[in-house]
Amino acid sequence: MALKYQIVPVTSFSQNCSIVWCDKTMEGVVVDPGGDVEQLAVIIQELGVEVKQLVLTHGHLDHVGGTQPLAKKLNARVIGPHRDDNFWLQGLEGQSKMFGFPLTEAFEPDQWLDEGDVVTFGEESLSVLHTPGHTPGHVVLFNQEAQRAFVGDVLFNGAIGRTDFPKGDFNTLINSIKEKLWPLGNEMTFIPGHGPESTFGRERASNPFVADEMPLY
Ligand SMILES: [Zn+2]
Ligand SMILES: [Zn+2]
Repeated sequence: MALKYQIVPVTSFSQNCSIVWCDKTMEGVVVDPGGDVEQLAVIIQELGVEVKQLVLTHGHLDHVGGTQPLAKKLNARVIGPHRDDNFWLQGLEGQSKMFGFPLTEAFEPDQWLDEGDVVTFGEESLSVLHTPGHTPGHVVLFNQEAQRAFVGDVLFNGAIGRTDFPKGDFNTLINSIKEKLWPLGNEMTFIPGHGPESTFGRERASNPFVADEMPLY
């Protein structure tokens, strides 16, 4: 397997920032640099990964808070989320107050992502799915060969993302999970935005929100 990744929990929300790279060329990306930029920079250097792109799953502060300082430090491009999350990025100052974070200024990425886009680094790539529900512009990144998906706050081990934020919608989120994620296969291991990894198959069997057959009590 030539696609490697390391999870680094960042911010007081323990957000799973992922450093993902091609071990042939050592080129890579950082998915959701929510904060703790100094720590991330040290780990990236220790791993020897040349990060050229920062990829954002959605516009929530715990996922994007370290984007601008890290992009500057690494001279990296900022890619994603889908443009429907622009209102979250433009509201970052308000989010800083809402989440009790240090002040984070609004920004726009160098490139928005959309369904079917492919983010490449070295000889590896991550394909993009548009998965609204938690936020309207949420995207999921996956690599079929490596059987890994970076799903942000769409799906968790035993839970799903919150849908009580502005423009969040429960049924839309359930549809995103069942119509976009499940077709990637039961063996697909996913890295959620928070908490431990799981597989789609395990969630289809036991997740109380999206299991194929709900247990009868
Ligand atoms: Zn979120
Ligand atoms: Zn989150």
